[in-house]
Amino acid sequence: MSESCPDHACGQASEEPLSLYVHVPFCRRRCSYCDFFLVTRLDHIEAFFNALAVETLAAAPLLRGRRVKAVHIGGGTPSLVPVRLLAGWLDLVASLCMFTSDVEIALEANPEDLGGNSMAELQAAGINRLSLGVQSFLPRKLSALGRRHTAEEASVITAEALNRFAAVSVDLICGVPGETLPEWLVDLQAARSLVVPHISVYMLSVEPKTILERSIAKGRVRVPEEAVQASMYAAAIDTLGSSGYQHYEVSNFALSGHHSRYNLACWMREPYLGFGPSAHSFMRDDGSERRRANAGTLMRYLDNPRECVAFEEILSEEDRFVEQVFLTLRINLGLDVEFLRKHNKLGLNLSTAVEDFLARGWIVIENDQIFLTGKGFLFADHIAGEFISG
Ligand code: SF4
Repeated sequence: MSESCPDHACGQASEEPLSLYVHVPFCRRRCSYCDFFLVTRLDHIEAFFNALAVETLAAAPLLRGRRVKAVHIGGGTPSLVPVRLLAGWLDLVASLCMFTSDVEIALEANPEDLGGNSMAELQAAGINRLSLGVQSFLPRKLSALGRRHTAEEASVITAEALNRFAAVSVDLICGVPGETLPEWLVDLQAARSLVVPHISVYMLSVEPKTILERSIAKGRVRVPEEAVQASMYAAAIDTLGSSGYQHYEVSNFALSGHHSRYNLACWMREPYLGFGPSAHSFMRDDGSERRRANAGTLMRYLDNPRECVAFEEILSEEDRFVEQVFLTLRINLGLDVEFLRKHNKLGLNLSTAVEDFLARGWIVIENDQIFLTGKGFLFADHIAGEFISG
């Protein structure tokens, strides 16, 4: 939807604000559970930022005159990049578009990278939100995950980040091999007692071709049973909910005003542009909606960042419906029963599905809107799938 832009010097109507994402595909080593696109050779970082500048300049026609409300620098581990390179890219973006006065500029960071002056330097470069890859405050869990930082660093760096930045988020993982519910409660309590305003809770998933998958296959480690994992997730909802956190997305909890603007934009199907290998974009123009993804290959990207698109598609009406159902349920904004009925082209018996989920305590209905319960969040994708295809 177009709206009038108060910052627009020429007084023209501008389109809805954009969000930007950049995938920085470097890590010092791969964590045991990670299947993200990344490389562990760091000698291409400078070349990557040169390519990123080329890709960003090529997107100038999409950026000029646009307000940008959120920039998310993710990865990978963007905190291992020299700050001058991050600052240079942010300056370039700022020269092409207009940051809103309350723009969120977030950086994913690992605690081991944030010693010395680095937080002050990041602030000076314009970063105003830190998303810390803490994962756990417990030495045993950190070691099981193959993380590089210590438990002490997790606490000290989180506390320092909270002193410096108004917006801080911490990632926590549950369901780590050998983990018990009491251990998980210690992690939740640690984040809660630090009053971290935004907490992302992930249940460890065993991805193909990871070290974790091989270790499980060889019988070296075992992840907790599904029922234990479900109880850990329920404990997160109870513990954080009773401490004033809003459970605003399947994996995300925020104190008032601390939601991730970038993530919300993606889940609310607002437009965003992605840069870097494997980055995704969602654009809307003249009533049509497009999704695009860059290829997940660094060499191709360095070679020609303008020609790195792996796929691009215009969304059909059916695609839009599917996205709307999945994403609305994830952020629990209320899925309209009438909307479901209207798009029910397969002749599904929606009433049966709805009654089944009501009986299981997975959903509630208020004012003809379907909301997930705490238990239902665990099955968000399954519920969405049933509403779409039965
Ligand atoms: S630091 Fe993050 S992106 Fe890098 S390997 Fe570990 S989990 Fe993956």
